[in-house]
Amino acid sequence: AKLIGSDTYNLYKHEMRLDIHEKFHIENDLRRALEKNEFSLLFQPQYHIATNQYCGEEVLVRWDHPLEGLISPDRFITIAEETGLITSIGKWVLQQACLQKKIWIEKGLPEVPISVNLSLRQFLQQSIVEMVAEVLEESELPPHLLKIEVTESVMIDLDRTSTVVKQLLALGVKISLDDFGTGYSSLQYINQLPVHELKIDQTFVAGIGKGKQAEEIISMIIQLAHSLSISVVAEGVETKEQLLYLTQNNCHKIQGYYYSKPLTGNDFELFMNGLQ
Ligand code: C2E
Ligand code: CA
Ligand code: CA
Ligand code: CA
Repeated sequence: AKLIGSDTYNLYKHEMRLDIHEKFHIENDLRRALEKNEFSLLFQPQYHIATNQYCGEEVLVRWDHPLEGLISPDRFITIAEETGLITSIGKWVLQQACLQKKIWIEKGLPEVPISVNLSLRQFLQQSIVEMVAEVLEESELPPHLLKIEVTESVMIDLDRTSTVVKQLLALGVKISLDDFGTGYSSLQYINQLPVHELKIDQTFVAGIGKGKQAEEIISMIIQLAHSLSISVVAEGVETKEQLLYLTQNNCHKIQGYYYSKPLTGNDFELFMNGLQ
């Protein structure tokens, strides 16, 4: 089979409307990627500010394309969703994440949750709850060690979303609201659903030290989390100044290059062993 060339990949980058012919190529390419095991996972640790402790990690998928090299999820998740391939890719990611976590627990790493991203399309699939339940059972990972990150865009259908979130919570998994503050119905969402965690979007974190606007929003989100007794994590933390601001404003957890980049499984283990 002919691999698609760089022209087609420029389309990934520019998120242009793809014609049927181009979509067909990319779809085949993604299908082949699944068969040939071209996907891999990176793990980015999270860090509890008050105790100085590692407190979890987020799983970030990568596509190691034979011609293009590492492709970031921003460039293929949307296409995977449009072609329906997100179902298989998403299940593979969850399986690998749960199996990896199980191994790390058995090796004696701390019993803190692993966070996995689910996109809107995945969330709205009829069988999503069954899929999660099945993967948990197969991997024998205790459900409280799995955290599911959902972005606010799932708010498009609050009724459907509430039902799914409640069923997932009933399985014993944790729920984190990703990119908090970037959507339009954040408050309605946390008003209706008992989520465990809010993730302050990195665009706000990037604004720390650059004027009052972003800082006010961040401190408001942190206060909100405190008054609702839920956990709050800031993502995309890159500088000491950002960490200082978040510490002074009582943010619980941070994730970002300041602490660690996303790491391969092996590097993650080395990093963790260095900490212990
Ligand atoms: P996200 O969930 O908001 O993930 C955070 C993104 O910020 C990641 O990009 C991460 O690598 C990057 N990041 C982490 N620390 C820093 C930092 O200090 N500075 C900056 N500038 N960036 C940082 P990545 O890995 O390219 O993922 C992009 C998006 O793709 C994710 O955004 C998430 O929405 C989606 N994604 C990733 N993995 C999966 C997956 O397995 N399934 C689904 N459905 N979506 C995924
Ligand atoms: Ca995320
Ligand atoms: Ca995020
Ligand atoms: Ca994001």
